[in-house]
Amino acid sequence: MNRKRIAALVVVAVLALGGYLAFGQQEPTYEKYQMQFFGTFDTIISIIGYAPDQGTFDKEANRAKAMFESLNEQFDKYNSYPGVTNLRTVNEQAGQGPVQVPQELFDLIATSKSQQEKLHDTVNMALGSVLKLWHDARDVALNNPAKAYVPDMATLRDAALHTNINDVVLNSANRTVAFADPELTLDLGAAAKGYATELVAQMLLKGPMPSFIINAGGNVRTGHSPRDGRVNWGVAIQDPDGQVMTQTDIIETLFTHDLSVVTSGDYQRFFDFDGVRYHHIISPKTLMPTHHMRSVSIITEDSGYADLLSTAVFLMPYEEGRTFVESLDGVEAVWVLNDRSIEMTKGAEAFAGSFGADNYTK
Ligand code: ADP
Ligand code: MG
Repeated sequence: MNRKRIAALVVVAVLALGGYLAFGQQEPTYEKYQMQFFGTFDTIISIIGYAPDQGTFDKEANRAKAMFESLNEQFDKYNSYPGVTNLRTVNEQAGQGPVQVPQELFDLIATSKSQQEKLHDTVNMALGSVLKLWHDARDVALNNPAKAYVPDMATLRDAALHTNINDVVLNSANRTVAFADPELTLDLGAAAKGYATELVAQMLLKGPMPSFIINAGGNVRTGHSPRDGRVNWGVAIQDPDGQVMTQTDIIETLFTHDLSVVTSGDYQRFFDFDGVRYHHIISPKTLMPTHHMRSVSIITEDSGYADLLSTAVFLMPYEEGRTFVESLDGVEAVWVLNDRSIEMTKGAEAFAGSFGADNYTK
């Protein structure tokens, strides 16, 4: 046997051994699992994850569900829960003096307050008194259509006198919230669901199932890539006139991992009165729902930020919103305009199916 031949045989043997070792230490195979639950944040929440076995998935999904439930209790403005100081408690008591709140609720109020300065007078967490008038009108219109009405402008203007965010006094050392105006109330609906989704996502990312997608009623957070060879998760943008999530009701698909896609639209919560649609996103300037577009979806990593921005950009005319989004780092957007045409930022094209992106696009 010549030396060349021996060397070749050694190489083959090493390769075979290498293959065997690699096989022996092969990563577990990952299966796709799914869980859905209803009852928190007034929506259906679904979690899909790739886990080595059902037990791991169940444990992670149940941790996620428990976290959503506890955050929902904190951020709830309508109900009380034994032993929980929540948003309802704050709204009832902060006008009389400082109320100490759990850390997550404090952080949500504090971040929203500091961010809203940059949002062109769109989202205002202190708009509770105005939003309540619209919420009550929507309740009546949906439950008792014969009695449907639109809140009257004088009443809206009176309510708007008590919506100054600077009257929300925060003390981070004591974790307290106080209202300098006793008639002010907070509404965190513009960002609470996304904020909660991000906290859940961060928890999952640190655990044994970092490959997941959470859909909390239009608030989507993708974790690491699906563990089936694909790079991306597909996130559908719904046709605002579609009824159910079928293939034909999908107007665009975005392909992402490790990012959030959060949509605000006029088609999820609304009532129709005298041929006009009154949806649930209210301009603090006009005190009325806006009609700039049908929906806007924000793509950025943090779901809480995405949720806040989606509501804010929905309240801006398209051109203003586009300039605003383009001025932000790491934020892209997709608009569905009133004629159902789609516009998107340049950076969003890299994620969009209509521009050739797919599950395998890097
Ligand atoms: P959803 O939570 O239904 O997915 P959004 O994230 O766009 O949609 O939030 C809408 C919610 O935000 C409303 O239900 C209301 O509670 C609140 N909201 C509406 N308009 C404003 C506003 N101008 N400022 C702050 N919050 C608002
Ligand atoms: Mg929002």
